[in-house]
Amino acid sequence: MTIVACTFGDPTASGEVEELLTLARRLSESNASDLRWLVAGSAPRAAVEELAAAYGVATVDRIDDPKLEGAAPDASVEALAQYCASRPPATLLLSQTFDARLVAPRLAGRVNATVMMNAVDVENDVGTVRVTVSAYGGDTRAVYELTGDGPHVIGVMANATAPERSSGATPVINDVSVDLSRIEERIRIVERTPEQGPRLEDANIIVAGGRGLGSADKFHHVEDLAEALGGMAAASRPIVDDGWADPSRQIGLTGKVARPALYIAAGISGASQHMAGCSAAKTIVAINRDPDAPIFRYARYGIVGDCIELLTELTNAVKAR
Ligand SMILES: Cc1cc2nc3c(=O)[nH]c(=O)nc-3n(C[C@H](O)[C@H](O)[C@H](O)COP(=O)(O)OP(=O)(O)OC[C@H]3O[C@@H](n4cnc5c(N)ncnc54)[C@H](O)[C@@H]3O)c2cc1C
Repeated sequence: MTIVACTFGDPTASGEVEELLTLARRLSESNASDLRWLVAGSAPRAAVEELAAAYGVATVDRIDDPKLEGAAPDASVEALAQYCASRPPATLLLSQTFDARLVAPRLAGRVNATVMMNAVDVENDVGTVRVTVSAYGGDTRAVYELTGDGPHVIGVMANATAPERSSGATPVINDVSVDLSRIEERIRIVERTPEQGPRLEDANIIVAGGRGLGSADKFHHVEDLAEALGGMAAASRPIVDDGWADPSRQIGLTGKVARPALYIAAGISGASQHMAGCSAAKTIVAINRDPDAPIFRYARYGIVGDCIELLTELTNAVKAR
């Protein structure tokens, strides 16, 4: 039985690789399966070695082919299908990035595998792989039990697993060759919003604003408190849709999933689709003028009041420290 954690490109470009390797290692340890890390696309060898050693992965398979550069779903599906044919995995885990969403279901079709997306946890039970997924638009969690020998292809959501290092021996790195000569990409990404600066997913403190702010010119109150606390500003979807905040700031099911130590939600009702992006925060503080707002069900601390007044007071208090 082999568990394969598959990532694309430079593994240092996002924190999701550490999360995936942690989950894959936990899974392999629980039923003594082999663990392999499959790195598709060009990735600095030293970084791969360092991460593999730090996360206890003894074997790394690399597929480096010019056709895998950038977003290359057709080439990725072909490369992974050839890999699975030569080294059949019981379970293949992918971080559910935008690119991986284009690959996982098609790969499953090619290799006749079960496919599960939106996974937030994966465990082994006797003879089954138990996958907990976020379902119904983040409203609920569903648990699936996958039976048989696989392969099972599983897309794992960002921030579902807290990275945990585990020292291991120096990893063995294998270069795996595949034949992509006949592949012509049919999907071409013509424009991608460049990500600049720190990522919300990695922030330790987030202050988020919602429609309760009242208008676009009030979003700076959220930014002011975030800056005073050394954190990042975020937003609910409606205010992103209305142009009050940049789309890169959106938290939730269709935005970023974060796991900060502190999440302050101001003027946010607490819809499940928003909470899908922040409910893993260690401490949630909610500011809402409606004492029955659903967000209070998730919050450790709740403040009933006007969010503009409270954001201003909190910012002044933090600055006065
Ligand atoms: C498929 C799908 C995906 C979605 N994805 C996302 C997503 O990724 N992220 C996301 O955020 N949403 C998402 N949504 C939308 C989501 O369902 C909610 O509509 C949205 O989260 C509500 O945003 P809000 O809390 O800012 O606004 P509202 O629901 O309008 O809540 C505003 C809150 O502010 C409070 N308030 C008003 N005035 C004040 C004041 N002066 N002081 C204090 N409180 C005040 C109100 O009591 C209310 O609770 C999605 C929806 C769907 C269907």
